[in-house]
Amino acid sequence: MLENATPLQYGDVEQAAARIDGAAHRTPVLTSRTADAAVDPAGGATLFFKCENFQRMGAFKFRGAYNAIARFTEEQRRAGVLTYSSGNHAQAIALSARLAGIRAAIIMPNDAPALKVAATREYGGEVIFYDRYTENREEIGRRLAQERGMTLIPPYDHPDVIAGQGTAAKELFDDVGELDVLLVPLGGGGLLAGSALSASALSPNCKVIGVEPEAGNDGQQSLRTGRIVDIGVPQTIADGAQTSHLGQHNFEVIRRLVDDIVTVSDDQLVATMKFFAERMKMVVEPTGCLAAAAALQGVYPVAGKKVGILISGGNVDLARFAKLVA
Ligand SMILES: *Cc1c(COP(=O)(O)O)cnc(C)c1O
Repeated sequence: MLENATPLQYGDVEQAAARIDGAAHRTPVLTSRTADAAVDPAGGATLFFKCENFQRMGAFKFRGAYNAIARFTEEQRRAGVLTYSSGNHAQAIALSARLAGIRAAIIMPNDAPALKVAATREYGGEVIFYDRYTENREEIGRRLAQERGMTLIPPYDHPDVIAGQGTAAKELFDDVGELDVLLVPLGGGGLLAGSALSASALSPNCKVIGVEPEAGNDGQQSLRTGRIVDIGVPQTIADGAQTSHLGQHNFEVIRRLVDDIVTVSDDQLVATMKFFAERMKMVVEPTGCLAAAAALQGVYPVAGKKVGILISGGNVDLARFAKLVA
C-alpha cells in the first residue's frame, strides 16, 4: 500500500497549518536562562521550548486530529470518527469531532489515566475499553469501523495526522528561525515525522533527534536496522509513548529525514518534571518531558547550540504528578 503512496512533504504540513488556523492555539515558545546555563555553563547554548502543554486539550495531538477530521467528506461526517488511544489522541479526536459536529467513539486501554478517560467523555466521546496486554486495539478498531461505518483515525500512522503534528515545529521555526538541533518526543512517530518535514524545509541543516523512553527503544532499533522493530508494550511512566512499534507512514519519513534517536530513563523524566515545575512554573506530563530530558540531563550534548525542544503535553493528574515528584 505504502509503495504507491506519494511521500509526505512539507507542503502537506503547510496545508494542515491553513486548516487548523483559528481552531488550534499558536502555543508560546519559552526560554529559560537557568536551563541554558544547566546545559552549557559557558553560556553558549539557547534552548527554545515549544509549549504544546498549553495546546487545546493539553497536547499537540489536537493538531493532527483536527486536520484529519477537517478533510472528511459529507458521508464520513454522517457516520462519525473512531479511534484507539492511550489518552491524548482520544481527547483530541473527541474535541475535534465535537467542534466539527460529528460523533466520536474511542477505544481506550482499561488502565488509561483517569484524567484522560474523564476528559474524553467530557468532550462528548463514547469510550470503549480494552485490555492493552491481551487484546489488539488495531483489530478491535477495524471491526468497529466496519460494523458502524465510522472512519478510523489512528493516533500516529496516518498522513493527515503526521501533517497536522508537523505544524507545531513549523510555528517554532517561523518564530525563532533556523536551529542547530530539534529534540522531539517519540512514541509512534507522528510528532517526529511531522517535525522532520517542517525542519527539512524551514531549517535544512537542523539535526532532528527523536527521544523515546529507555524501556521502549523500538524507534532507535528501527532507525539503526532500517526496518520497523516491534518490542511489545514497554513499561515506562511515559504513558503517551507506550507504543510497541513505529507506524509505516511515520517510518517512511523518519528514515528519510531524522538524524538519530536517543533514549532517556524514567528517573530522568521525573527530574525534568521537577525542573519544569520549580523553575518554569509548568506542569508537564512524563511523556511531555522526553525531549527536554535529553538536553537537560546531558543525554544529547547541546553546548554552544541553538536548540528547539518540543514539550508535547501537560495532561497528568495532580495526585500522580505529586507522587512522581515527591
Ligand atoms: C502521543 C504523545 C507523544 C508521542 O507522539 P507520537 O506521535 O505517537 O510519536 C508524546 N507526548 C505526548 C504528550 C503525547 O500525547
